[in-house]
Amino acid sequence: MNVTAHVNQARSENEASSGQTGALRVLVTGGAGFVGSHLCRRLLAEGHVVLCLDNLLSGQMSNIHDLAAHDRFSFSRHDVIDPISVEGPLDRIYNLACPASPPIYQRDPIHTFQTCITGATNVLTLARQKGARVLQASTSEVYGDPMISPQSETYWGNVNTFGPRACYDEGKRGAETLCHDFHAQHGVDVRIPRIFNTYGPNMSPEDGRVISNFVVQALNDLDVTVMGDGTQTRSFCYIDDLVDGLLHFMEHPRPHPTPVNFGRPEEYTVLEIAQKVLELTRSKSKIRFIDLPVDDPRQRKPDISVAQSLLGWVPHTSLEHGLNRTVRYFQATNDRSDARLETTQARML
Ligand code: NAD
Ligand code: UDP
Repeated sequence: MNVTAHVNQARSENEASSGQTGALRVLVTGGAGFVGSHLCRRLLAEGHVVLCLDNLLSGQMSNIHDLAAHDRFSFSRHDVIDPISVEGPLDRIYNLACPASPPIYQRDPIHTFQTCITGATNVLTLARQKGARVLQASTSEVYGDPMISPQSETYWGNVNTFGPRACYDEGKRGAETLCHDFHAQHGVDVRIPRIFNTYGPNMSPEDGRVISNFVVQALNDLDVTVMGDGTQTRSFCYIDDLVDGLLHFMEHPRPHPTPVNFGRPEEYTVLEIAQKVLELTRSKSKIRFIDLPVDDPRQRKPDISVAQSLLGWVPHTSLEHGLNRTVRYFQATNDRSDARLETTQARML
């Protein structure tokens, strides 16, 4: 796929409108995914030119379908493990390309690791060439199975380098290191959000993460699959709050090359989430306990005091409100995914 051709087109469109706005040329890798598609939409709404790059491994064209007609939007199918070339100026790069769902990132762990490491190297090299600022999506997974709670940025984590999650956890840790070193060695302006569990519309019904799984199962009266005894905890942030945080962090006027947590500190057990989803959907589904995956972290709760003091960022959306919006989204897409669902459920049980 010729990335350059698409990007050139967007450039000339930008040049045509340049001079009248503070429009930036922004590359979003992983832009067809859950977080990326919301971010592309917000960047367009703010008047920027958006170059969306994705290999469609876990993303969906339906997430960005409505953006295709926009004259400041272009899409390129491209894998970040291959060098990325963009002609013309580039102001910002949001590097989101990487599957975030454990069953998806574990399918081809070598490719996941390469996506994190080679992908970040390619993005940072491009940023260095262009003088662009980079936001590298990191994750609470860098804390592994944490020994302290809540997790603050000063905690170094407890990660198994050999487990099934290592391709992602260690890949993201390595990507943070690359950001640190490109900043220290070449002066690249990097922003490193450590994103905690985020949910909302545009997750794929086949994604495999807990909220999308529970909602899709409940809406179809299928067993809700609680892994282990359901006492492990997570803290869930609604997508709109996260996107606000990412945009603020990227546009913060002073360099901040060390990682910052983004998440909603309210902590729930997985069983509580299952019960909430069942209540909201008024589902006839039953809870079914299945095996806990290897190395599944026991707890997750972000300390967000750095994001709060640096950016004034706090998430505002309650779990109930966010879940309601997510349920409405999956209700609307449910018919289309009915057939695929049976297969997914059969694979999991
Ligand atoms: P997602 O799987 O919905 O989106 C990832 C996107 O990246 C997909 O569109 C996918 O096709 C694309 N992609 C994957 N590998 C690629 C590659 N090698 N080259 C090009 N494109 C590739 O996941 P998401 O939830 O939107 O996550 C986005 C980013 O945020 C990821 O980097 C993830 O690690 C990070 N993150 C997300 C969460 C969360 O809860 N959503 C939590 C922590 C970190
Ligand atoms: N989980 C679950 N049922 C599912 C999917 C996930 O009980 O169908 C559990 C999983 O074991 C983990 C938590 O929910 O303890 C969050 O899982 P997810 O894959 O969403 O995110 P991560 O483990 O990466 O935080």
